[in-house]
Amino acid sequence: MTRPKSFKLSLVLPAYNEVENILVLVDRLISQTSGLGDVEIIVVDDGSSDGTLDRLRLAAVHRPQLNYISLSRNFGHQTALRAGLNHATGDCAICMDADLQHPPELIPLMVEHWQAGADIVNCIRQDQPSLSLFKRTTSRWFYTLLNGLSGLQLVAGSSDFRLLDRRVMNILNCLPEADLFYRGIIPSLGFEMATIDYMPNERLHGQSRYTPRKMIRLALNGVISTSMRPLRLATCFAFLTALAALGFLTYVLYVYFGTKTGVPGWASILCVTLVIGTMQLLVLGVIGEYLGQVLRETRRRPPYHVAEASERTNLVPDRSIAA
Ligand code: UDP
Ligand code: MG
Repeated sequence: MTRPKSFKLSLVLPAYNEVENILVLVDRLISQTSGLGDVEIIVVDDGSSDGTLDRLRLAAVHRPQLNYISLSRNFGHQTALRAGLNHATGDCAICMDADLQHPPELIPLMVEHWQAGADIVNCIRQDQPSLSLFKRTTSRWFYTLLNGLSGLQLVAGSSDFRLLDRRVMNILNCLPEADLFYRGIIPSLGFEMATIDYMPNERLHGQSRYTPRKMIRLALNGVISTSMRPLRLATCFAFLTALAALGFLTYVLYVYFGTKTGVPGWASILCVTLVIGTMQLLVLGVIGEYLGQVLRETRRRPPYHVAEASERTNLVPDRSIAA
């Protein structure tokens, strides 16, 4: 599939206390995309308290491309992204951080991939030697854990710096669940994907707005929203314990009946403990399976996504329609 030469591009920038960075970035984006035609910039002020909103209000007066949304409080990066994507009107959108770590120079290349047919263009962060050891290690651990638990194959360095086609945006905008973890959901949608490796810049001003608390919440949300494996692990664990308990029970009965050497009461206590313990784990496993099913149902994710259909196809008008 190739796409039209004339199109509208949305740039979605979540910003939390980025007063020193935001206009530098906006102006850089305006000059970087001047040859690309119709461009809208949507800055989502995620409840900043440092005057980011005031700066945006003033700046928007003289910059017709600049739009902003201000959230009522700090909802977090993923929710700010969601708000931006909900309001984007482009044929495709590029999400990027507001601290200039995501190089604006990559935008033309991302658009090129989109025009050549890619629906999603992921930018993969290469390890920047100046990135703190803490950030590099925790990021690597995070992806190892997430891939192990979810069965996804996210590359270390996956970020929310990506281009999304309008069809993908429409699907994401329809997802009803409360907490979206874009990095996990987007690869699970399917669609044609391209990747670009990039070396992140230094943050222009200030420290990371992702506090350790926010990072832990993101990691937990990532695992829970992409995977039922932790629940299933309880069942596997219960079966393993049941096997071990059976072996030990045989030994206890052998000691009691065969050698008659056990201390009085030893065999009965062990039998009761093993049987009840194993039963409890098995029942927990079964509850886990049902809980997983309830979770899947309450998320109400569409069962499939239509990427394309022939002109005369009578598409069912529900949320599974991407276009
Ligand atoms: N951000 C946000 N809300 C938050 C935390 C961060 O909108 O609660 C924005 C932040 O302004 C930045 C992007 O999300 O544009 C990524 O955050 P940051 O650069 O601090 O994260 P890091 O690059 O350290 O992972
Ligand atoms: Mg950053």
